[in-house]
Amino acid sequence: MVRYSVEVKGIVQGVGFRPFVYRLAQKLCLSGFVRNTPQGVSVEIEGRKSSCEAFIKELRESPPRLANIEKIGFTELLPKGDTGFIILSSSEGLCNTFISPDIGICDDCISDITSKSNRRYRYAFTNCTNCGPRFSIINDIPYDRRNTTMDRFLQCPACSHEYENPYDRRFHAQPNACPECGPHLSFFKNGEYLSQDPIDLFNLCISRGEVVALKGIGGFHFVCDAKNEEAVSRLRKRKLRYDKPFAVMMKDIQTVEEYCELNPTEKKVLASPQKPILLLKKKASCAVAPSTTKLNDRLGVMLPYTPLHCIIMQENEVLVMTSGNLSDSPMVFRDEEALDKLSVVCDSILTHNRCIYRRVDDSVCFVINEKNYMLRRARGYAPEPLHLDGGKSTILAVGPQQKNTFCLTKGENAFVSSHIGDLDDADTCKSFESEIESFIRLFDAVPQAVACDMHPDYFSTRYAYRLNIPLYPVQHHHAHFASVLAEHGLKIDNAIGLIFDGTGYGEDGCIWGGEALFGGIQESRRVGHLRYFPLLGGEAAIREPWRAALACADIAMGRETALSLFKENPDEARILLEAGDKKLNSPLTSSMGRLFDAVASLAGVCRQTSYEGQAAIEFQQLMEKEANGSYHFEIINENEIMIFDWRQLICDIVSDLNRGVSAGIVSVRFHRAVVELIAAASSFERGKTGSNSIVISGGVFQNDYLLENAVYALEKSGFIVFTNEAIPMNDGGISFGQAAAASYRMR
Ligand code: ZN
Ligand code: ZN
Ligand code: FE
Repeated sequence: MVRYSVEVKGIVQGVGFRPFVYRLAQKLCLSGFVRNTPQGVSVEIEGRKSSCEAFIKELRESPPRLANIEKIGFTELLPKGDTGFIILSSSEGLCNTFISPDIGICDDCISDITSKSNRRYRYAFTNCTNCGPRFSIINDIPYDRRNTTMDRFLQCPACSHEYENPYDRRFHAQPNACPECGPHLSFFKNGEYLSQDPIDLFNLCISRGEVVALKGIGGFHFVCDAKNEEAVSRLRKRKLRYDKPFAVMMKDIQTVEEYCELNPTEKKVLASPQKPILLLKKKASCAVAPSTTKLNDRLGVMLPYTPLHCIIMQENEVLVMTSGNLSDSPMVFRDEEALDKLSVVCDSILTHNRCIYRRVDDSVCFVINEKNYMLRRARGYAPEPLHLDGGKSTILAVGPQQKNTFCLTKGENAFVSSHIGDLDDADTCKSFESEIESFIRLFDAVPQAVACDMHPDYFSTRYAYRLNIPLYPVQHHHAHFASVLAEHGLKIDNAIGLIFDGTGYGEDGCIWGGEALFGGIQESRRVGHLRYFPLLGGEAAIREPWRAALACADIAMGRETALSLFKENPDEARILLEAGDKKLNSPLTSSMGRLFDAVASLAGVCRQTSYEGQAAIEFQQLMEKEANGSYHFEIINENEIMIFDWRQLICDIVSDLNRGVSAGIVSVRFHRAVVELIAAASSFERGKTGSNSIVISGGVFQNDYLLENAVYALEKSGFIVFTNEAIPMNDGGISFGQAAAASYRMR
């Protein structure tokens, strides 16, 4: 007889870990107990040595579907002569270090809702310990039914029995429910409740080409038939969303394969329990309505992730499923608001009486070279913690202004919020504040310090100043840089960073965004940047890429030649340049994102945009990859700083265009020049510092051609390359970088 204490760390709470341990111990005739601890799960087992070893082996090799074990430690104890194995309830406040994200429906639950004899046949709120809502319904700790929006539903005897039986898949599944005792669907048309079967009504409306608002896990979606051009374009007009592609939901993997190119990694991500939206390349035969993606050759696809989705997708092959919001405001998630606001866009509403406590958007990702990259980290991922090596303090990092997320660290755990959005809108700002308060409560972590962007006017920065606790401003591109190093647990202080981004406030008051940095998580210094040009008219230049083209052409080729390129609006162009001469509302920028705008616009693509990154995306997709040649950035050494000079490059582009070279060829030559610049700048810096580690990050690298080819070129030159994977390369990853930098500065 031997006795072991086994400590399991990682995502092991709220994922059916204790019942799994219980069943395993029973099977192996071991006695002892299991309980939750602040660090994870603690087990003591007693029995034959071989059984104890078998126990640890199985723990390691086949843990529950949603568990993510970081570490198993065990020590031998003296046998106590226990009889039987028990699950100890965890004392309040002790447990729930981790709150599971919302998880897509599991195969067992799918078979429950599709088999006619099952008591949950077609029941839209079926879930179990392996799947279902979590983060979106919890309002306090510990994670118990009474602290979720399921508290108003009393479990019937059959459900209670499942809930209390450790051998049942629904043992302690907090949102457990059935048609007898749980939530139910309701359907509204023109504000009026209709009593017919809600699913039949939904299918009828979709087949008529109407738009239905559908309540999901973390909010409402607008849904319509993705093969009906009239329906999709009507949705666009009503939602005032002109160009940005819509995501779709497809029935199953086979359907996705009919519409899109799909490799094994993509298949795995698509079908994973997180069920994100994955950007896929459309096949030529892709039969979605043209208005779904407009000019984009990518289609954002997800599989059904709630029982309700599974039920409606039995009758539908592919549906547009886009967040239920009005233009720039956040996705609606409360019924009152849905009935009140969404009817300007939708014809009817399919909802239910299980409340959503917090908004959780769909996550978005893409796969390159068999790696999954996040574009938006939300449902399925948040608030699963990231590891912050050596973290000791409780820090709130408030994130940037655009694509905001914030991050709350507690020791070595960094809890990055779900995507909050752009803090330009009053409702988004409100949810930013209320989510911060909620995180402090849920993770029982009152911040000792706050980290923020250096931009004085960001809503998040102003919020940070109001907290009146020690404040750590972190430069925007350093935060991108630090986010990569921290994500990979790299403690080096001699990494070379190439951060190509939209815009971020620089240490010299200019707007940075095409930066080379050198350093580590704590600090870095700027060792290179794109040659500055004025952002004519400030913010407006971001929506009107032609202004960047004008500014660059003016510097590269002189005023009259530049003006000759803008024959449609010569007066406006001249006024803008003259204002720039006087430095009126024309801040200098080194942004690579804006240089992409400039070049795209010169090539005749997208002189105005209706969503962020549109010019770059449309320009990339034109690329004629068979064409030869490349433009070239010159690297000039100015006071030990590399200046990435684009003047000759702009002249070459204009002369190509004048000779009738197509935009697609200009595009591929420009992309190659950027890749070449990355490799050349890295080699130059390696020559000076001897460092071989390259970090790439920033919103520009959401361009998959650039990311793929930059990594390839760098690795070919012998560099070790690090990028963001678990958090977005765009500003969604900033808060984690801020938290990491502040954490190092506090040590
Ligand atoms: Zn399930
Ligand atoms: Zn029930
Ligand atoms: Fe950024």
